[in-house]
Amino acid sequence: MTRFNFEEIGQILRDHQRFAVLGHVRPDGDALGSQLALALSLQQLGKEVRVWNEDGMLEKYSFLPRAELLTKPPSSPENVDVAIALDTAIQNRLGTALAAVRSAKIWINIDHHLSNPGYGNIAYVDPSAPATAEIVFGLIKSQGLPFNRDIAENLYAAISTDTGSFQYPKTSAHTLEIAAELIRAGLDVGRLNQQLYENYPRRRLELLRELLRTMRFRQGDSVASFSLSLKTAAELGVLPEDNEGLIDHLRAIRGVIVAAFFEELTDGKVRVSMRSKSNFVDVCAICQKFGGGGHTLAAGARVRGTLAEVEEKVLEEIGEVLESHS
Ligand code: 5GP
Ligand code: MN
Repeated sequence: MTRFNFEEIGQILRDHQRFAVLGHVRPDGDALGSQLALALSLQQLGKEVRVWNEDGMLEKYSFLPRAELLTKPPSSPENVDVAIALDTAIQNRLGTALAAVRSAKIWINIDHHLSNPGYGNIAYVDPSAPATAEIVFGLIKSQGLPFNRDIAENLYAAISTDTGSFQYPKTSAHTLEIAAELIRAGLDVGRLNQQLYENYPRRRLELLRELLRTMRFRQGDSVASFSLSLKTAAELGVLPEDNEGLIDHLRAIRGVIVAAFFEELTDGKVRVSMRSKSNFVDVCAICQKFGGGGHTLAAGARVRGTLAEVEEKVLEEIGEVLESHS
């Protein structure tokens, strides 16, 4: 995997004028926070910046500073010099944003997914980083790019959500040093955490209640899963963003090594979300078998088939991988 240094990226940022800052479909806090943070820094540098995500800004992250900058991409392409993909393991996970930046002469790919093949003219892919925002922070600081409290809040929200509130194994001393620097920029930790973790809509908990009704265990208690049908989603009136993080309830069970969540989509596919608690069980590798990717301990895929078919196929595969280790 090619690793470029920050200087080369910094040079491109200084030398061009029109940028599009993009992130993956079904964005999470890391994608949206990283996009806004880098866009705000570039804007302050005097650049023209578009901030596009196929899904637009999610309701639950709309409190992020300058959230209004992030919109859905336009249906016809616009002129940009440089496209920057953040937190996006494969280019087609940019969705409709990809077509909007056809004119880009230079592609920069900044990411922390192990499965990222290093697309683009410059790829800075660091799988040891717990969040793409940590790399964005490194870029901003090393290149002396503009930095302020709004940028800090976006980066903090991104790092906090991608590390499970600074709990996941890739959380390092460096991560906490960055967090300290972000706090010194003036952000209010208590308020931000309340906005992130104590402001869920009631329907999210009602969704969890329904998911728990479908909870199943396999391989003793080592594999736990639950699933969401389109029917249940419609009955509850939930948004796709409502289920982010609910899989953590399965992972948190003693004895569980792999947690899986299956969500029926409208396009005849099922979104599979997977978490592992053991470095010996690489869920990225499992998801890659189904056309997906991600990280060793957190990965996903979209698999064609009915909910029941995909559940069966995927749980079977997880079972085989676990058996080969026991
Ligand atoms: P989540 O389960 O939270 O949706 O995703 C976990 C991780 O796996 C994320 O880092 C995400 O980027 C990655 N991931 C999720 N779904 C897919 C997918 O369909 N394809 C690829 N390549 N990666 C995915
Ligand atoms: Mn991420």
